[in-house]
Amino acid sequence: MTTQPLECGRTPDYLLELVADEAVDGPARAAVHADRADLAHLAGCRYCGAEAARLRVDWARVHAAARAPVDVPVALVSRTLATLGAIRGDPATGHVEIQQTGGTLWVRDRVVVVLARELARDLLGELRRRWGLPDGTCRVLAVTGEPHELTVQVALPYGGPLREFAEHLRVRLAGALQVQLGTAAPDVSIEITDVTHVTGQ
Ligand SMILES: [Zn+2]
Repeated sequence: MTTQPLECGRTPDYLLELVADEAVDGPARAAVHADRADLAHLAGCRYCGAEAARLRVDWARVHAAARAPVDVPVALVSRTLATLGAIRGDPATGHVEIQQTGGTLWVRDRVVVVLARELARDLLGELRRRWGLPDGTCRVLAVTGEPHELTVQVALPYGGPLREFAEHLRVRLAGALQVQLGTAAPDVSIEITDVTHVTGQ
């Protein structure tokens, strides 16, 4: 890290190191590890003293931020649990059957869910680019439900034609699953669970 020298001519890098050590080991241990000449200079230099004080305040802010409790969005927990539930699948059967010429193809429930999620992500990304929307404005949040009847939860951009976006995705996804799974393809519903904001436009 390169920083501008202070008015005394020293660069504040050594202070940053010292203050970081203080934060981790406490001031006493940090002073033991520090360079003698640095400490002697710091003791007599008001520029370095002021810079060290500023850095200590910054560190205190970082610590306060790290300790602050983070509110988990209400829907996040239920969404995560629902996805896990869907991926676990139905323990009684655990698979869908695809009748083919010459035999049966079995696809595990969780594969159907994962497949739907990956396809939904790809297709939504494709639609987003076609609609000329910035990265991150169209997102698949979760895939829930039974392997025969999946719900894809999405976040779509505020102010856009939400119903049209969702319907495009539903039709494309149902088609893609049909190609992959044939008669075993699940019914697909789209649930708009969140809206995103298009910035910089
Ligand atoms: Zn100094």
